[in-house]
Amino acid sequence: MSAPQTYQHLIAGTSREASDGAVFDKFEPSTGQPLAQVAAGTARDVDAAVAAARAQFDGGEWRRMPGAARGRLLNRLADLLERDAERFVDILAREQGRPVMEMRLLDLPLSIDTMRYFAGWADKLEGRQIPTGGFMGKPTLNYTLREPVGVAALIVPWNAPLMIACWKLAPALAAGCAVVIKPSEDAPLAVDALARLTLEAGFPPGVVNLVHGVGPVVGASLVKHPGVDKVSFTGSTAVGRLIAQEAAASFKRVTLELGGKAPQILLEDAPLEDAIGGLMMGLFVDQGQTCAAGSRILVHRRHYDDVVSALAGAARSLKLGDPFDPATQMGALISERHAGRVKSHIDAALRDGARMVAGTEPLPAQGYFVRPTIFADVAPTMGIARDEIFGPVGAVIPFDSEEDAVALANDTNYALSASLWTKNVSKAHQIAAHLRVGAVAINGWSPLDARLPWGGFKDSGVGRDLSSKALDGYLEEKVVTVIM
Ligand code: NAD
Repeated sequence: MSAPQTYQHLIAGTSREASDGAVFDKFEPSTGQPLAQVAAGTARDVDAAVAAARAQFDGGEWRRMPGAARGRLLNRLADLLERDAERFVDILAREQGRPVMEMRLLDLPLSIDTMRYFAGWADKLEGRQIPTGGFMGKPTLNYTLREPVGVAALIVPWNAPLMIACWKLAPALAAGCAVVIKPSEDAPLAVDALARLTLEAGFPPGVVNLVHGVGPVVGASLVKHPGVDKVSFTGSTAVGRLIAQEAAASFKRVTLELGGKAPQILLEDAPLEDAIGGLMMGLFVDQGQTCAAGSRILVHRRHYDDVVSALAGAARSLKLGDPFDPATQMGALISERHAGRVKSHIDAALRDGARMVAGTEPLPAQGYFVRPTIFADVAPTMGIARDEIFGPVGAVIPFDSEEDAVALANDTNYALSASLWTKNVSKAHQIAAHLRVGAVAINGWSPLDARLPWGGFKDSGVGRDLSSKALDGYLEEKVVTVIM
């Protein structure tokens, strides 16, 4: 076995170890073996990274670069991601334990497409000319300028690290911000490789900086830092709340993409055969470690028993194992600690009286695996129906009418996304309008696309990633009035 590789910060275009030389170990989820040693960043490292970003934003080459040139650099970065796609698939499979097939189908194409989409925006950040009745009897000419918000801290989770880093980095750079990226300590390697690729693409050193380390030190220092103008965070609702409190004191701009507890609703007329595959995808993609995981399966009572047994059979047959084996359908969870957390949710559901119909099959001999687990006879008040588990665990709950289904779906503080299965198109539109979530998928699971805004209502967050809405989060609009 080769020695674990060492990863350092990227500050002003150069690799730097932590100011006190400290490192932490990152383990490979599918084997439990050491994978990398990573710089454990400090508040001083954050100071250095913010200073590098500020130098580029406040008066560097970057601030003077026209939008068309920024767009060319983003397109070059997309080309490099495409060139290195298999290298990224390999890194992600090792650091996340996810099957390579998922990264080839989802993470890499979506990351590359996001870069190209925002590359196209970089030279289209147009202001407005706004007619008014003039000022104190004099006519005025009023127009607006759209300016980058400044230095943006991009705080990334571990569940889709490359893709979510691209969701933040691409609009930030298109807008002209300079950035400091804080990857998750649980999946820092692909984001590290992405940051380094920006230098090869030709971004001036200091435009993209990266500080490794743990959230309460590096993340918290960034959020408090007076040199940071904007925080774009994807992660748990608990940490999102801390960031919102901190930002309230400094008036930093924030985008918060937080947790979810998505309902997948099967109406009485749902196309059952297609729906089972779709429900499985919504529930188990990325081992259920997605904010959009459809972990509350609400089924019309007429189909309840059939759906429970179809899901149980499909879950029991899933093959867990080596992410590089083409036969593997589900990988490991991100860490031993997280697998323990998911198991404690399963134990609590059993204590609450839910009926486990899949999940007791044998596990691979090593690694942080949890069997795909389905619970039936779940009351909507149980923790398994309310808490974000972020693992391969689904709760199947019956309903008797469409009104009940909508009420159950909305009965949660999370409000990110929902799926709805029906053959009746007009009913689908009516129910979609009543679901209090940021995204509704009809007859499928959350199709992510750079052109579609992504974000939640309620405790699922504030603001949007993706689409032109994401750009707005990295821009200020300034009014200029000429009194004539
Ligand atoms: P997390 O909140 O533990 O960590 C997210 C990031 O924040 C990490 O980089 C972490 O180091 C950092 N962090 C931790 N404490 C911090 C602090 N005090 N100050 C600043 N930064 C801090 O979340 P996670 O476990 O990495 O990710 C899973 C969560 O992310 C789930 O709740 C999931 O639903 C959510 N998520 C949401 C979306 C979305 O688009 N809404 C997408 C993916 C994941």
